Amino acid sequence: MPTLLDAWSLHLATDRSVGRSAYCDLVCYTVDQAPMAVDLRDNTNLWGVPPTAQSAIREAAVAVSRYPQIYARELRVALAEYMGVEAEMVVTGCGSDDVIDACFRALADPGDRVALPSPCFATAETFARMNGLSPVVVTLNDDRSVDIGRLGRSDARVIYLSSPNNPTGGLVRREEIERLLNLSRASVILDEAYGEYAGVGSCDMIAHCDRLVVVRTLSKAFGLAGLRVGYGVGDPAVIRMVEKARGPYKVNSVAERAAVAALRADREWVAERVCQAIINRDRLAVVLRTLGLTPLPSAANFLLCPTADARTLTRLLAAVGVGVRCFVGLSTIGDAIRITVGPWPLMEIFLERLAAVLERKSNGEVAASCA
Ligand code: PMP
Repeated sequence: MPTLLDAWSLHLATDRSVGRSAYCDLVCYTVDQAPMAVDLRDNTNLWGVPPTAQSAIREAAVAVSRYPQIYARELRVALAEYMGVEAEMVVTGCGSDDVIDACFRALADPGDRVALPSPCFATAETFARMNGLSPVVVTLNDDRSVDIGRLGRSDARVIYLSSPNNPTGGLVRREEIERLLNLSRASVILDEAYGEYAGVGSCDMIAHCDRLVVVRTLSKAFGLAGLRVGYGVGDPAVIRMVEKARGPYKVNSVAERAAVAALRADREWVAERVCQAIINRDRLAVVLRTLGLTPLPSAANFLLCPTADARTLTRLLAAVGVGVRCFVGLSTIGDAIRITVGPWPLMEIFLERLAAVLERKSNGEVAASCA
């Protein structure tokens, strides 16, 4: 039965009598958020919220009758310290989604081309369209690496790529990013939402190339997804443009206080969980292989497993309280499930339920119900 949201999305997708024409073919973002006992769908920090941030959230509650800082000055300073750059090189936003959106508006004019790898973080293409830009999609190479040559020769005004890439988990090596910047005159948005897990950071490259904007977030390793804090790092002149496109008051006061507290006092907590996630990811990959799945190499806190029956598997797992993200028809990959890595006891529950589901499938017990 269609939900209210489905009906609304359909309405927005088909009603051509109102509003901006580029929006008629866009649909609202819909992913399954039904509660799950073991929720491995969104690549967030499954260890929870860092402790100092939690206290800061409680303390900040008493001040919400007033507006936050217009351009989140204190947060920019804390982020600049964390990234080892000047505060003028940092722009914040309501999640890194907001920063990517503002970058597209600031770095290109409506009608310009934006080149993106496929598959990559799908929302980026939606933001490009929302800003009247024309996406040029460059499929991954056969080995699932990003095709830097084709991205660089795409004649785009802006190039977006993420490293580690979502949903594949693949890392774009530093030499490849340098090659891209040399190949093309485009502005490059490098999305490092999962940068902490890969132990990489490309901000130092901005000193040599003012066309590079590195986008990051506190939604993943920092465990603050619900607060919606993202940031971009770039040349000060470029960052001023992005800030204009972003607009005032985007980071709310609770989010700002908690983010500053986490950046100043929770870094060790974060680093320990990142370490654990990496250990658990590699351990999980080994067990998944014994169950017949083939996870792709990942530099992030998730694993993508290509599998022809991704839809059935997702549905069967949901029926036993396990949420994984299902992808259908990814270029060069096909159908796949993506699994967020978390604390090992949670991974064990997942693996037990997965093994039981796979067993029932191989015995043919579930074919009829899931045809
Ligand atoms: N970039 C990538 C690659 C992502 O996977 C995500 C979220 N899954 C985002 C950006 C957006 O994250 P947020 O808006 O929560 O910062």
